Amino acid sequence: TTPILEVKGLTKRFSIQKGWFQKNSYVHAVNGIDLAVRKGETLGIVGESGCGKSTLGRCILRLLTPTSGETIFQGKNIRSLSKPELKAMRRDMQMVFQNPFDTLNPKLMIQQILSEPLIAHGIPKKDRQTLLEETIEIVGLGKQHLLRYPHEFSGGQRQRIGIARALMLRPKLIIADEPVSALDVSIQSQILNLLQDLQEQFELTYIFISHDLSVVRHISDRVAVMYLGEVVEFGDKKELFASPLHPYTQALLSATPVSDPDEKRARIILQGDLPSPSNPPGGCKFHPRCPSCFDMCKKVSPTLQDVNEQLVACHLYG
Ligand code: SF4
Ligand code: MG
Repeated sequence: TTPILEVKGLTKRFSIQKGWFQKNSYVHAVNGIDLAVRKGETLGIVGESGCGKSTLGRCILRLLTPTSGETIFQGKNIRSLSKPELKAMRRDMQMVFQNPFDTLNPKLMIQQILSEPLIAHGIPKKDRQTLLEETIEIVGLGKQHLLRYPHEFSGGQRQRIGIARALMLRPKLIIADEPVSALDVSIQSQILNLLQDLQEQFELTYIFISHDLSVVRHISDRVAVMYLGEVVEFGDKKELFASPLHPYTQALLSATPVSDPDEKRARIILQGDLPSPSNPPGGCKFHPRCPSCFDMCKKVSPTLQDVNEQLVACHLYG
């Protein structure tokens, strides 16, 4: 099957101003990412904060303009779209944020907040009320909530409203950026279950961004592991968690608690912090922290290669 979304060589560079006497330098927040997302799947993107995963999500939705690379959505290259075509495409791609109310006007009722995307996309007034009532109930809130204000809701309810907002236009793809990271664990699983129900009901495709491996593991079909702006490992969730190949994935996994005692693995402690993306190490970017680093790693940057249908960028393989 053809993927619903393809990303090729996606790169986002930010320039950072130095002093007048120095040349500007650049941060490669996202550096040459290739991904193909299948219709109806959940693709998890995991990595430490600062690895570029949010930037990647925003570039895909064109909330940020990528520096280079291609994005092909439902067979169309986004770069070749006219303004009206781009607007139509935006209906099909929505985002769920960590704190959905950060950007919303606290003086507006939920009804008005949820109507905004409908108005922006010219949905006729007579259809709006039905959509509002239908959607608020789909996310597990009664329609009496439409007349309330943001401050009247708990964190979990707010995220339900954030999800309702993303659903208003009945999109095909939702990019969820840390959607449960601000919530208590018990509420997290409610929201994850809701997302899974909605996926079935509306045949949604998800890109699910999180620093939390156990959350990504719960919800994803396939997982991409990012490190300093690059995908270092990519594969089917089951295989990737059962036999992680990249030393970074192995370290991440060893640090998450497991419920299955058979799965016990030795804790791998990484040396040092995530290096600054403005001055990444040469060769393999992970080499200063890698317990398996050898000579070649300091000089040559590894590329993704296929190892038993898992993609991994590491010189230990091949
Ligand atoms: Fe470690 Fe070398 Fe593999 Fe990089 S290429 S992850 S430094 S073993
Ligand atoms: Mg982020």
